[in-house]
Order: sequence, then C-alpha cells, then structure tokens
Amino acid sequence: MNAFEYVRPDDVAGAVTMVSRDPHASYLAGGTTLLDLVLKDGVVELGRVVDITRLPLRGISRGDDTLRVGALTTMEELAADPTVTERLPFVREALLLGASPQLRNMATVGGNILQRTRCRYFRDPTVAACNKRAPGSGCAAVTGVARMHAILGARAACIALHASDLCVPLVALDAVVHIQGVGGKRSVPLTEFYVLPGDRPDIENVLQHGELITEVEVPLLPVNARSGYLKVRDRASYEFALTSAAAALLIEDGTIARARLALGGVGTIPRRAREAEELLNGAPAVNQTFRAAAEVALRDPFTVSGTAFKVELAKRTIVRILQTVSGVQS
Ligand SMILES: Cc1cc2nc3c(=O)[nH]c(=O)nc-3n(C[C@H](O)[C@H](O)[C@H](O)COP(=O)(O)OP(=O)(O)OC[C@H]3O[C@@H](n4cnc5c(N)ncnc54)[C@H](O)[C@@H]3O)c2cc1C
Ligand code: SF4
Repeated sequence: MNAFEYVRPDDVAGAVTMVSRDPHASYLAGGTTLLDLVLKDGVVELGRVVDITRLPLRGISRGDDTLRVGALTTMEELAADPTVTERLPFVREALLLGASPQLRNMATVGGNILQRTRCRYFRDPTVAACNKRAPGSGCAAVTGVARMHAILGARAACIALHASDLCVPLVALDAVVHIQGVGGKRSVPLTEFYVLPGDRPDIENVLQHGELITEVEVPLLPVNARSGYLKVRDRASYEFALTSAAAALLIEDGTIARARLALGGVGTIPRRAREAEELLNGAPAVNQTFRAAAEVALRDPFTVSGTAFKVELAKRTIVRILQTVSGVQS
C-alpha cells in the first residue's frame, strides 16, 4: 500500500477544488468500494483521499413529481424513506436486495453509482492483462473465468459488469445526476452518464476528474403504476446479481399503457431496455408480449463460454418480473 494524505473538507467548493487540482486525489464517501481498491487490493494508488462525509449532501426531499436524494444519503436511508416505499417500491426492493445491512448503512447513493466492477482480474494487480486497469494490456476475463460478467455492451476489450442494483430502477426511471465541478454545475441523465467500454474500458462515465455528484433527482412513478425488481443470484443474500430486471407498468384494461424496463447483471452499464419498452407500450399484458420483449432486450449479446447461460436466464428474468408486476400467471 502506498502512503496517502487524508483530508476532510467542510464545504463542497473546497472539496471539488482539492480533487480537481490533484490528479492523484479521489473522494471518499462510505468507503465500501474505495477502501477495498486502495487498501486491500492495491489496485488504485492515491496521493490524497478527500473525505466528503462532512459535506451537506445527505438527505432526501420530496417535490411534486420527484425525489431529490443527496449523494451522501446511505442506501439504507433511501430504502427507509416513506416516499420510496409508496411511489418507488422497486427502488426500495433493489436497495434491500443489495450488499448487507452493514454495508448499506455505510454505502452512499453517489458511491453506488460510481462503484467499480467486481471483475476478479481487475481487482488482482498480479494479473497483467486488464484493459480497465492498464489500458492496452488485454483482457484476462475473455479467455479466463467469467461468470459475473457482462453480455450486453461487452466486447473483446472488456466484459466487466456494472454490478449496481440501485442503478437498474434508477435508469428505468430516467433519474438525473447533478454534478458540481470547478467551473460550475451540470446535470446528466443517468442513461447518458455511463460510457460503453469501446477501446477505452478505463473510461467508465462522463465525469471529469474532480467533478462531484451532489444529488440524484428521481422522478416518482404515477400513483397507479406497479413496479418490481427481480434479482437472480447464486445465493439468497449478500451476493451480486447474475441477472436482474426492474419493471414499472401502467396497465389499463389489460393493455400496457406505459412500460419502463431496465436490466442488471448483464450490462457493462446499467441497461435501459428501450426497444423492449417500445414493444410493450400499447400491447396486451400477456405472456406472449413479455417473451417478445425479452427477446428484443437480449438481442446481439456478446458471450464467452462462462457467460452464455445468462442470455436465456436474463430473458426469463424479464418475463418473470413482467408477470409479477402485471399479475399475469405463467
Ligand atoms: C461485499 C460487498 C457486496 C456488495 N454488494 C452489492 C450489491 O449486491 N448490490 C449493489 O448495488 N452494490 C453492492 N456493493 C457495492 C456497494 O453498494 C458500493 O460499494 C457502495 O454503494 C459504494 O458507496 P460508498 O459510499 O461506500 O463509496 P466509496 O467507496 O466511498 O466511493 C466509491 C467511488 O465513488 C467515488 N465517489 C463517492 N461518492 C462520490 C461523489 N458524491 N461524487 C463523486 N465521486 C464519488 C469515490 O471516489 C470512489 O471512486 C457491494 C459492496 C461490497 C464491498
Ligand atoms: S473484463 Fe474488463 S475489467 Fe475484467 S479483466 Fe477484462 S478488461 Fe479488465
């Protein structure tokens, strides 16, 4: 482990300036991702850790149609919010199916969005080939052991999964990320926040170095919408998703008036399933429609031998969550 300086600013502007001016500085929120990477795995070397936990970015406020969630709000606090229970139940389900109670009490919403991949080769600095850790070095996972990896948005350069549960309903909802940089504020829809691996898997999102997530704005579902989150995993708790799906449906007289659908456990980024939504909108809420949506959502996967099983599993995950939310029997 390399030595680093630890600082704890009290104001947002000071924190942003500190990190923006120092290419070897990084923010520390709950630490559940960062401390592993720096202290345990030795994957990330930092000169300065800027602890943001004293910044006034914790808390939830409700507007007419949206919920504004401070970046330092913990996963557990968000799950316990009454508006989330009432108007965003699939967000609550995704949160409570993630990590463990201990982790959720430390882990923040901003940190969840920016969590790094669980790819074992990325997290093991003794492995030479990892384009995400060492650009241009190759990808050990493509020919190695790959199970918790992506099949959508993946390519030979990198098949690393974005493993967040929370972000799956958030992309389905068109949540917006509010950002503070040295030059001012900006807002980015979460669906445009992440970057596909392309030739530079080390570039994961649109944040410039030093930009701070201050808040996430989450549109509320209509009162008559129904939603659900299904997470399929190797064991019943404290495990990342093999596949997951978040769905919200507005059904009128047996017809799907409005569908929102997003996938986890399969994408290099949390995946909005827009083509599947288009197919669902205006269609009868029946199993045939659900299967057709699943086929569209999993079109053109990139699989390796260890991940090929995910294609059918993801389709079944989609069908099952649509059945659950709509109340249609299999
Ligand atoms: C054992 C284990 C199991 C887990 N299981 C799950 C799971 O099932 N589902 C799931 O969704 N997640 C899971 N996680 C991931 C967990 O949710 C994340 O580690 C956590 O949300 C990160 O939040 P944090 O506050 O601890 O972030 P940190 O570790 O403090 O930071 C993470 C990264 O984000 C940056 N950062 C943090 N906040 C900001 C901000 N406001 N602006 C800009 N940059 C920021 C940091 O610099 C760092 O790079 C698991 C983690 C562990 C360790
Ligand atoms: S999948 Fe991505 S993170 Fe994992 S070894 Fe390959 S390049 Fe690295």
